[in-house]
Amino acid sequence: MATPLSADRLVAALRAEGLTVHERDGWRSHSRDTATGKSFGPVYGILIHHTAGHNDRELCYWGRSDLPGPLCHSWLGKTDGLWMISSKRANHAGLVDADVIAALRAESALPHDDQANADGNDCLYGLEIENLGTGKDPYPAKQYREAVLWAAALCRVHGWSERSIAGHKEAQPGKVDPSFDMDTFRADVKKQLAAKPGAPARPLPTPSTPRVDLSRLIAAAKADPPAKQGHVTYRAGVNLVENALVKEGLLAKTYAGDGSYGTTTKAAYARWQRSVAGGGYTGTAADGIPGSASLKRLGARHGFTVTS
Ligand SMILES: [Zn+2]
Repeated sequence: MATPLSADRLVAALRAEGLTVHERDGWRSHSRDTATGKSFGPVYGILIHHTAGHNDRELCYWGRSDLPGPLCHSWLGKTDGLWMISSKRANHAGLVDADVIAALRAESALPHDDQANADGNDCLYGLEIENLGTGKDPYPAKQYREAVLWAAALCRVHGWSERSIAGHKEAQPGKVDPSFDMDTFRADVKKQLAAKPGAPARPLPTPSTPRVDLSRLIAAAKADPPAKQGHVTYRAGVNLVENALVKEGLLAKTYAGDGSYGTTTKAAYARWQRSVAGGGYTGTAADGIPGSASLKRLGARHGFTVTS
């Protein structure tokens, strides 16, 4: 069980890791504890987000009409650096999968996030990274490195490993943030933890785009449609592809994010194959089973790479 760091200890830990820390006016007393009657902690891990916007530090401080701030503990600008927003309860996680929280706490492999049944704001630190999250909006190397240092600082001071870190997309069904690869991010934090605090890990970390494994996706496209509704073969890859199909206007949002390559997803992918941008396939070549060329075209437009 870990007690959340005080504002002073939080700033000290981040500076010791090598970060320049900016303090937004009022952040030390800014929280959701009083309004909700629930205090922050004990803490079990870290959640990483992208903001899906630009110039949104003040938005993360104040929140929105439907979601009062603070919306994170720290906000990391594209070029504005790291800003402290809160050290207590913040509205960043919402309802997440209790199994994911348990895995972060145990530092075991993350399970599929198929439920939203536990309040992540109780027990998770949250970093909001300024980025549109489109897959096209780059994370400058400096910004990504600062994100790695932020997570490493918290892990180091709590005695956690990189397995105490999840992306919001790994914790709550339907979420897609952050838009970089989380396995690479955790590996980068692990390298940083192996280095001395304040000394950057070598080689310096840079963001990598999420990957979709073609053979696993094809297996899902063949196994899921004839199986029981909601059958899941390859959740992470299917979610990336479904999200891209939604953005292309080929799949209704309600069908995306469950990780199942069902008949609706298959039909949407066939529409992608027939489209000009997808390659203009006809007949059995547009059967809704992904091929390398059509999938690479989709990934190039929506920020994922294809492996096989
Ligand atoms: Zn998020």
